[in-house]
Amino acid sequence: MSEYDLVCERCGNTATVEDAIVSWTRDAEMERDHALTHASCEPAGATERLPVSRLVAPQEFLLFVGRRIGVPVREPERLRTIVFAIAPFLLRPANGVEMNVLRAATFGKVFGVDPFKGSEAGSRSR
Ligand SMILES: [Zn+2]
Repeated sequence: MSEYDLVCERCGNTATVEDAIVSWTRDAEMERDHALTHASCEPAGATERLPVSRLVAPQEFLLFVGRRIGVPVREPERLRTIVFAIAPFLLRPANGVEMNVLRAATFGKVFGVDPFKGSEAGSRSR
């Protein structure tokens, strides 16, 4: 498994952004049974579904999360787990500069600051 793998809740195998969905059941009172699965493993009885390939777009992710706020959800921990599973696909470094910033940070440095002259990274108070 790589650092950010999605795991299907039904079959337990790795899913990709392209073949995973989030599904749930909505009735008059609440939403329930949120699940992250392969599209082919979608739980029977689910009334709503969104492909993860859509949810990894920041605006779609925010819409999904925003629409859940204030809606009664049975087992909100399941929904929370799904949100946390998808979030890294939006937040992971997307370009070389971001990767360099993260690499520098692992050494306690600030990317672009000469480590022998600048002291920005070392002088930051925590
Ligand atoms: Zn599956």
